[in-house]
Amino acid sequence: MVESLFLNNTWIEISESAYAQNLGFFRKLIGKGTELSAVVKANAYGHGWQSIARLAAKHGADSFCVHSIDEAQRLRRAGFRQNVLIMGPIPLRRLREAVEENYRFVVYNHETLRALHRLDLPQDKLARIHLKLETGTHRQGIAEADLAGFLTELKATRQVLLEAVYTHFADIEDTTNYDYSAHQRASFDKLVDTIKTAGFPIIRRHAACTAAAILFPETHFEMVRLGIGQYGLWPSRETMVSFQEQTARSVKDALRPVLTWKTRLNQIKTVPADSSVGYGRTYKTTRETRLGILPIGYSDGYDRGLSNQGYILVRGKRAPVRGRICMNLMMIDLSDIPEAQLDDEAVLIGRQGKEEITADQLAALCGTINYEIVARLNPEIPRLVVG
Ligand SMILES: *Cc1c(COP(=O)(O)O)cnc(C)c1O
Repeated sequence: MVESLFLNNTWIEISESAYAQNLGFFRKLIGKGTELSAVVKANAYGHGWQSIARLAAKHGADSFCVHSIDEAQRLRRAGFRQNVLIMGPIPLRRLREAVEENYRFVVYNHETLRALHRLDLPQDKLARIHLKLETGTHRQGIAEADLAGFLTELKATRQVLLEAVYTHFADIEDTTNYDYSAHQRASFDKLVDTIKTAGFPIIRRHAACTAAAILFPETHFEMVRLGIGQYGLWPSRETMVSFQEQTARSVKDALRPVLTWKTRLNQIKTVPADSSVGYGRTYKTTRETRLGILPIGYSDGYDRGLSNQGYILVRGKRAPVRGRICMNLMMIDLSDIPEAQLDDEAVLIGRQGKEEITADQLAALCGTINYEIVARLNPEIPRLVVG
């Protein structure tokens, strides 16, 4: 297995023990009675959907959430029999597939309901809809004003099962002030009451993403949609700080990053002082410099914003990125790591020796969030589950 890695320029290692720890942390938090649904959209946040779905099932996730019907079909065709909720839009022409293949799927408008009505489904088929309620995120969701009309229409539509209702919080991650979330929670409760009064036995409710799952037990309801946390990443610094304040627990014992991204040094060269490095000549050496070339660029998902900003671990030390990140290559400064040799392993995200480069650090350096850093890792990079 390790031998075969020499055949790749780059690969991603997924730590099963870290993943198991993270899932265990959330199971303990939400209890046995609440459905834990692993959100594996966007190639499992860049971690590799096959590996993560297998680990999720093995370590106690009950079901999956995805964005698209294609993602749901990939899971089914790979043999996963768990419930799958499609949270993103389904082209109306593909609704029949969604029903016939027995997915749960989001509905947030009349048009979908009418399209379901027109499908004229086989007798034994039920559309399992999860109605998304607008509570203040103003993304998907049916507004309070449209709800009564929708419910009337729903009653008249055969073979549509209102399996659950849900909502999504707008402002938990970016703040330690949770007033807006409390307001959304109150709106959700009110809408749920409206639906019950209209004669629908509400079977399930869900609202919590990772941050809500960690900070607000009252939002767990019957199911939690667990995304970033299962991968060992915090939704934000604010969430981490609030968790520490609430529990006085060490964050390291809670979550451990699952992903390590590696490559190898494939050229080393010494250039004189005053040499420019890379496109646009944005870096100029100030001394004789030992450069290392890595076969990684922005097409692999190493953000171009890390040009002259990022660090790579070599021999347990940080080597600074020099010049612009290219499409498939980058240059790093090995002048202070004289022991570095050709073919040495280099770590782009993760730990090596005592040093660590986290997705959060890279996100801070290029002005984004850890979610984007991992979600954009090229799906073609091989993912390998390690102990
Ligand atoms: C992606 C997503 C989640 C997961 O959010 P995390 O912050 O990664 O836990 C939950 N719910 C919906 C609707 C989503 O789109």
